[in-house]
Amino acid sequence: MNIITNNEALREQIRQYKQSGKSIGFVPTMGYLHEGHLSLIEEARKNHDIVVLSIFVNPLQFGPNEDFERYPRDAERDRKLAEHAGVDLLFMPVVDEIYPTGLSVTMLVKERVDVMCGRKREGHFDGVVTVLTKLFHLVQPDSAYFGMKDAQQVAVVEGLVQDYFFPIEIVRVPTIREEDGLAKSSRNVYLSPQERREAPILFKSLQLAKGLVERGHLKRDSIIRKVTELIHDETSGTVDYVEIYSFPQMVPVEPLQGDIIIALAVQFDKARLIDNMIISLGKKESQHV
Ligand code: AMP
Repeated sequence: MNIITNNEALREQIRQYKQSGKSIGFVPTMGYLHEGHLSLIEEARKNHDIVVLSIFVNPLQFGPNEDFERYPRDAERDRKLAEHAGVDLLFMPVVDEIYPTGLSVTMLVKERVDVMCGRKREGHFDGVVTVLTKLFHLVQPDSAYFGMKDAQQVAVVEGLVQDYFFPIEIVRVPTIREEDGLAKSSRNVYLSPQERREAPILFKSLQLAKGLVERGHLKRDSIIRKVTELIHDETSGTVDYVEIYSFPQMVPVEPLQGDIIIALAVQFDKARLIDNMIISLGKKESQHV
């Protein structure tokens, strides 16, 4: 595995791959790798000659009171896992390599962000599309792989690529979970043992919602209420949001129809966990509210 930390060396290596006609699959991450990340790498491995993994904790996507400084990092462990997973090129730049100067042009996401994490984490998705634009230009992948664990990110990135004609296919990869249903996340290490025991309720509440919807219960408010109550009653976390929209448009639909997302965020003492489920209902004429 080739490990590169600067843009020039990365560009040179990418030039060589392109010259020899290799296809490139790209997996952008913030590191502290777990099976969720590894499943993206595995998908990319299946479809491409070369797999490029980036590990970069992007300061621009963290708010002033968020966990940028204490975000878990373990470069040595990540290197081993990446190598074992069959990554060809690991790109691990420092912050100054990606942001050597202030930005003279900034990016502002306008759609799909006035809901869920976009509403709660102001500027977060602006930071995400900024770093991805830089990484996409450096890596020039044929496809980039994103986890549905961060479904709103998938929706926003699909918008970016479409609007700005990036010649990159965005591949959606299903959420990888622990055996008890908790979505794997680098932030799960912040949970206390008691919170860890409670955390699978998040997935259970999404399953409850799915069951209700599939049995023809199509009223958003009552589903949201039931999910919120379950989390409130059975965990010590505080519900940040429970929301339901069309996916990937992220607009309310009533009654529920087409592809919908049920998404939630719950704040525990030191960890804010998110999860979601996509449910495909028969397509009727859509009526946005
Ligand atoms: P992160 O390092 O948290 O920025 O995540 C990097 C990529 O891994 C993103 O596309 C995430 O959606 C994806 N990812 C994180 N957790 C999971 C998971 N449990 N299952 C599938 N993909 C995931």
